[in-house]
Amino acid sequence: MILRTHYSGEITPNLNGAEVTLAGWAHEIRDLGGVAFLVLRDREGLAQITLVKKLVDKAMFKSIRSISRESVVQVKGIVKAEPKAPRGFEVLPSEVNVLSAAETPLPLDPTEKVDCELDTRLDARFMDIRRPAALAVFEIESAVLRALRDFFYEKGITEVFTPKIVAAATEGGTDLFPISYFEREAFLNQSPQLYKQMLMAAGMDRVFEIGPIFRAEEHDTRRHLNEAISIDVEVSFKDDQDVMELLEQAVAKAYQYVAKNCSEQFKVLGLDLQVPKVPFRRITYTEALELASERENVHMQWGDDLDTETEKFLGSAIGEHYFLTDWPSSIKPYYSMPYEDKPEISRGFDLMHPRMELASGAQRVHDYNLLVERIKSKGLDPAGFEFYLKAFRYGMPPHAGWGLGLSRLVMTMLNLENIRDAVIFPRDRRRLVP
Ligand code: ATP
Ligand code: MN
Repeated sequence: MILRTHYSGEITPNLNGAEVTLAGWAHEIRDLGGVAFLVLRDREGLAQITLVKKLVDKAMFKSIRSISRESVVQVKGIVKAEPKAPRGFEVLPSEVNVLSAAETPLPLDPTEKVDCELDTRLDARFMDIRRPAALAVFEIESAVLRALRDFFYEKGITEVFTPKIVAAATEGGTDLFPISYFEREAFLNQSPQLYKQMLMAAGMDRVFEIGPIFRAEEHDTRRHLNEAISIDVEVSFKDDQDVMELLEQAVAKAYQYVAKNCSEQFKVLGLDLQVPKVPFRRITYTEALELASERENVHMQWGDDLDTETEKFLGSAIGEHYFLTDWPSSIKPYYSMPYEDKPEISRGFDLMHPRMELASGAQRVHDYNLLVERIKSKGLDPAGFEFYLKAFRYGMPPHAGWGLGLSRLVMTMLNLENIRDAVIFPRDRRRLVP
């Protein structure tokens, strides 16, 4: 038996008279006595199934009433153009089968008639994503990934995977999740940073990786999770300026692609996407500090990291994507290249959306001795980085790269309040299931 011949979105009034089989969920059932409506929902939307009591089999008419909402149903019937129906057609069924009945009560209402707490939604995520607005987010996310991958392939960048189970921290520190690895301790990787750099020594020249990063940060914010997807790029014989260009192009491509290919999803979300214009503004850390110091009662010292409030202030002052460049070396990681003539400043940069940081990158230190010195200056022990440092002793090209947070890109693109709305099964301090 064919379970489905068409999605609801494939049916148009000009299929009038055709026999189709639809399959999906019982979104709504209305029994008006002489006529009953079953609204079937699939990935593409809703379809109205109309049963006129006088015209259909009695048993079938009766059985409609006993279908519980959100049961999986299959309907075979004839398409009838019907201007009064929501999408200009209805289906007059010859067969209605319940493939999987839903229990009652439902953990939440996918028809969005009642508002629902985020926690309730996440607890029953499978049901939550039946809501078209939740589904649209993840369909757009998939399109973003496709656009980015296409862009990387176009630029001759090779996709790689690096290990997520590692022996040492990328940047030292306490943000690591320890795991037991046979008779040893291991960790979940904070970022592919060290590995993608080693691939520059391997002569892979340009690599990208899209994969999870793990941060054991305890903070509870709307833009941090303990597991996130990072889009990482590293390229040889390029500098910070080159990879900033690559980054802004990647972001613009993602916007352009979804603007072109996800119009249905944007309609569902009620959003009108504005594609950001490249090049993005470049603002040095020092300029940003001056701007931020215009606020009353704010006294910031050169060398201070920019806190959330400052990021927000700058974001609303600037109002569009921008790069923050020329950071103090003291607050950028050891692998960021200091300027030769003013080593207190580094060739690290952040890509900012007015609401938050989206990406960090830098021209990297490729000189072995400088790297060792930089590791020590951060209070770290080079001995712990031997597997990484080794790659710098036998011919390491100059290189640069960045890491971009997928969910932050999507949440800012779609104006979502909470990063949890951009992650199917988010992991935070309190949430480990589902
Ligand atoms: P922040 O300062 O916002 O906490 P970060 O500077 O610690 O971020 P990086 O180490 O620079 O983060 O990671 C690169 C990118 O990965 C970030 O710009 C962000 O988009 C994403 N990212 C990092 N940590 C998280 C997290 N805990 N949850 C979600 N995304 C993250
Ligand atoms: Mn960062």
